[in-house]
Amino acid sequence: MFWDKKIECMEREEIKELQLVKLQNTVKYAFDKIPYYHKKYSEYEVFPEDIQSLEDIEKLPFTTKDDLRQVYPFGMFAVSTDEIIEIHSSSGTTGKPVISGYTKKDIDNWSEILARGLTEWGVSSNDIVQNTNGYGLFTGGLGIHYGAQKIGATVVPISTGQTRRQIELMNDFESTCLIVTPSYGLYMGEVAKEEGFNLKDFGLNVIGFGSEAWTEEMRKRLEETFGVPAYNIYGLTEMMGPGVGVECSKQNGLHIAEDYYYPEIIDSSSGKHLPEGTHGELVLTNIEREGMPVIRFRTKDITALDYNPCDCGRTFCRMERITGRTDDMIKVKGVAVFPSQIEKALLKISEIEPHYQVIVSRPGNLDEIEVKVETAPELFSDDVRELMNIRNKIADHIKNEVGIKVKVTLVEPKTIPRSTAKAVRVIDKRNLH
Ligand code: ZN
Repeated sequence: MFWDKKIECMEREEIKELQLVKLQNTVKYAFDKIPYYHKKYSEYEVFPEDIQSLEDIEKLPFTTKDDLRQVYPFGMFAVSTDEIIEIHSSSGTTGKPVISGYTKKDIDNWSEILARGLTEWGVSSNDIVQNTNGYGLFTGGLGIHYGAQKIGATVVPISTGQTRRQIELMNDFESTCLIVTPSYGLYMGEVAKEEGFNLKDFGLNVIGFGSEAWTEEMRKRLEETFGVPAYNIYGLTEMMGPGVGVECSKQNGLHIAEDYYYPEIIDSSSGKHLPEGTHGELVLTNIEREGMPVIRFRTKDITALDYNPCDCGRTFCRMERITGRTDDMIKVKGVAVFPSQIEKALLKISEIEPHYQVIVSRPGNLDEIEVKVETAPELFSDDVRELMNIRNKIADHIKNEVGIKVKVTLVEPKTIPRSTAKAVRVIDKRNLH
């Protein structure tokens, strides 16, 4: 299903032409309206007229999260606050929060982007969308809300938590589309089981998930738990929120809304462009945004882009699921380890639950990784030999995936704290900062 086939299936040349015009307008607009960009571009001696081709974007300096923090709260707005109709913010757990501002037109565009995205999974005006994303300053709640309403679907704005009620209402309303984070989805599965419900008997047709790192194995667990396909949504507060990329029914990458976002892949240490299809850091530019256009934003997310037309008929490029974040990367004994790799290894083992925690410590001079994993309820036995076997199996699988040996500790079912939003997977006790 398409929301706007004409746009979603444009020829590559047409997309590029459109992007260039929008990029040129954006750079000029930001230079004229936002003192931060005026000053920065003047310092770098790069001016709007220097952007003659899409490749010329490389002449512009990057914008980082720190840059956005420095102009907190409203220093990135291109319009006065009387034209801003909504504000969102990052959680601010690692410093000052990043603020995102939207004009009426921006909210309309954001709704359009998500209406298009949800339609990729077949969501229509007949659907009942149960949105467990948190409402409030977090963009995941209202972003999905606007998109679903634009389509004319019925939104259940239940937000996160109240899990038992969540399941009860899902059953009573016969919700057809569920929006969750993977970890919360699995938690809902556990609670439903405890309550004697089989989620597969519910009226659900589709799951949309986002907001945290995931693996194909995690998707499979989610699909098995609910008995329906699960599709990924990607986005970030700085770029408006969810909708930058949305997976289509082919589950083979997320289509980037290229008429609103210009994506680049760079080598995160040199800052240079990488060849098409290579993994690197995703850099994004808002090429149509009135309230707060952000140019060349370093997402720190690692992915690769595929420009081949998709089997679904869409021509917008596809980004791979995020394989890690440049700052989530744990460097242990000189090896780069991502929690997602550990998760991938764990999900291959049926005797355990995909609830885990990675603890990094430095007892002497050497780094040590301990992975705490829950066993499945039916398995926690007193048979020491059996548990030893499973532990070794887990250690082997992880070693295969990440290349180093880790310590594995099995813990009883449901002893690792559950999260309703983003799961805390890594505890770094090394005090490296
Ligand atoms: Zn597709």
